[in-house]
Amino acid sequence: MKKIAVLFLVVALVAAFFALDLNQLLTLEGLKNSMGRFESLRTESPVTVALVFFAGYVAVTTLSLPGAAILTLAAGALFGLLGGTLLVSFASSIGATLAFLASRYLLRDAVQARFGQRLKAINEGMAKDGPMYLLTLRLVPLFPFFLVNLLMGLTPIKTFSYYWISQLGMLAGTLVYVNAGTELAKITSLSGILSPGLLLSFVLLGIFPLLAKGFMRWLQSRRVYAKWQRPAKFDRNLVVIGGGAAGLVTSYIAAAVKAKVTLVEAHKMGGDCLNYGCVPSKALIKSSRIAHKMRHGDHYGLSAVTPAFNFRKVMARVHAVIATVAPHDSVARYTELGVEVLQGYARIVDPWTVEVTLNDAQHGARVQRLTTRSIVITAGARPFVPPLPGLDDVGYVTSDTVWDAFAKLDAPPERLVVLGGGPIGCELAQSFARLGSKVIQIEMAPRIMSREDVEVSELARQSLTRDGVDVLTGHKALRCEKVGERKFIVVEHQGQERRIEFDALLCAVGRVARLQGYGLEELGIPTQRTVAVNDYLETLYPNIFAAGDVAGPYQFTHTAGHMAWYAAVNALFGDFKKFKVDYSVVPWATFIDPEVARVGLNEQEAKEKNIAYEVTKYGMDDLDRAIADGTAHGFVKVLTVPGKDRILGVTIVGEHAADLLAEFVLAMKHGLGLNKILDTIHTYPTLAEANKYAAGEWKRAHAPQKVLAWLKRFHAWKRG
Ligand SMILES: Cc1cc2nc3c(=O)[nH]c(=O)nc-3n(C[C@H](O)[C@H](O)[C@H](O)COP(=O)(O)OP(=O)(O)OC[C@H]3O[C@@H](n4cnc5c(N)ncnc54)[C@H](O)[C@@H]3O)c2cc1C
Repeated sequence: MKKIAVLFLVVALVAAFFALDLNQLLTLEGLKNSMGRFESLRTESPVTVALVFFAGYVAVTTLSLPGAAILTLAAGALFGLLGGTLLVSFASSIGATLAFLASRYLLRDAVQARFGQRLKAINEGMAKDGPMYLLTLRLVPLFPFFLVNLLMGLTPIKTFSYYWISQLGMLAGTLVYVNAGTELAKITSLSGILSPGLLLSFVLLGIFPLLAKGFMRWLQSRRVYAKWQRPAKFDRNLVVIGGGAAGLVTSYIAAAVKAKVTLVEAHKMGGDCLNYGCVPSKALIKSSRIAHKMRHGDHYGLSAVTPAFNFRKVMARVHAVIATVAPHDSVARYTELGVEVLQGYARIVDPWTVEVTLNDAQHGARVQRLTTRSIVITAGARPFVPPLPGLDDVGYVTSDTVWDAFAKLDAPPERLVVLGGGPIGCELAQSFARLGSKVIQIEMAPRIMSREDVEVSELARQSLTRDGVDVLTGHKALRCEKVGERKFIVVEHQGQERRIEFDALLCAVGRVARLQGYGLEELGIPTQRTVAVNDYLETLYPNIFAAGDVAGPYQFTHTAGHMAWYAAVNALFGDFKKFKVDYSVVPWATFIDPEVARVGLNEQEAKEKNIAYEVTKYGMDDLDRAIADGTAHGFVKVLTVPGKDRILGVTIVGEHAADLLAEFVLAMKHGLGLNKILDTIHTYPTLAEANKYAAGEWKRAHAPQKVLAWLKRFHAWKRG
């Protein structure tokens, strides 16, 4: 209501300005004709005239009315160069700031709500370099004054910064116009005031801040390298540290474009994903799902049976799966692809030199020095182990050690504590519960999988609970205790302590980037939980890059691979063209049963970011194939821009949700809306039809009711 009142006031004032023909006064002719009158008024009461002039100038600029240039000339004619410049400089800056505030008040929320996601990059750019852009816009008088105020009001720039940068930036132009005004009689047209030469000078002045910024960057990078001796020649184009998903893709790309690349891996090729992460966990999940299906065979008209199995064989299968996938990531394969692979520990000794302590069984530790134009750090992450008193005494496994440790057991641990309610904790808790462990999952937060919407967390909790997991949310682990051979974890919930006895404890409370011991400290490369990189994945040293878990912000194999492309291309071709890493459409999934998959925004994030959205939901219980498969649970939930079919984000809960999501990932990446999904033939009967039906739900909710009412009449008329 207040906004409407302000808008009404602005419109009324602008209308009055034109109705009273004041625009006629603010022309060169009008000014010249009235100058005599203004002169005598100013001689009679100079202060009053100056104040009225000031207020008028503020009003004209605030309301974005035409005539500010004429008023500036008038300032020169009436108050001289110094007085005129002072008056105009303050009045124009105040007016500009008021116009900026009006735009912000009236339009910003609506624009941000509607286009918030698209404006993200602009907002981030403005937060970083906004003052610089504004100064450029102000220095070059070619950019319309009112447009700058209007557009800047929509950005997050601070009001005070806006004021003083505007005043500084407009000063040169003000001086030129006020000076011209001191000789008003000689001016025949406004266009003559800024000669082409002067205009060019302003443009040069305007781009000066940008040039200066580039120069400062160059100077800074020179300073960063100053204390190091750059080799005259390099042995290699690229050295990649770490042979996980990010390192493998980086070196693959480098070899494919014929660069000389060395990949150094200290431990196992394939890194986390192959050896301790995605691959073993998904292999275990499969066995546990089969066990679950056997237990619930009666849902399919079969006999329900308690699966009889040897746990060693289950774990042996996990290792067999790793071994089957391993050749994809092997030294042999990458050597064949043209990558030199060194098995050893890498340490960066200067920005162009990497020292590798080779794992050389024959010769013991042997050190090799490599010089390289660029380095890509892909050292990954490791499980975080909280400093819980007594934890070392009771012993624990992490995602790194569980695969080998449990492979020696004949049966899964009878009582297993899983510490952590994130995706890894949930996947493993459910798997071991289905394989027969009594699992107690401990999570400090009020819900598990807290990045997802509340209803998703709730479904996950129900599903885990159904499988026998005791999900303890809001429980804080305090300490572990060992009494003889018995092991306990003490947790606190609502002020009460509880002791839980267990046989094995799996710690899954998150993973932290590997940041120590390979040269980051010595080179002074900044880290904040991860290696600090810019949009091009450059570290402090523009020839040293980082990608994958070590750099974040996501910790997935596919994001590691995605970042690797940018790191490799920028490292090898950055002198010609650099690419900013694009995180606009990032999917992920948690492979519990039912699976949870997401791309883009969920409701929780949309609210946090103040982005307007509409929700369309389709329940899997309606889907023929899901009913036939006995998996009719979960949903497809799509967030769209209000009134439009543009997808902001999708969450799918259900059987094969991670696979179903691919269609939405493609749609979002290529700007296809729900109408396009609805237009596409989906095979019957498939789970993928759920995507089409979700689009159909959206269409139904946006059916043109008025047109349909007319159609009803038309058909009635046709029936006679
Ligand atoms: C249980 C579990 C399940 C997971 N499930 C999934 C999933 O389903 N989907 C998914 O997308 N992601 C999953 N992840 C995450 C995924 O495994 C990681 O995001 C991915 O492996 C990161 O790859 P990376 O190349 O950045 O690092 P890593 O794979 O950790 O590779 C880093 C490599 O660098 C080496 N290294 C470190 N320092 C040096 C040095 N100084 N010299 C030489 N070598 C060095 C290490 O030995 C390591 O091999 C899972 C993770 C876990 C733990």
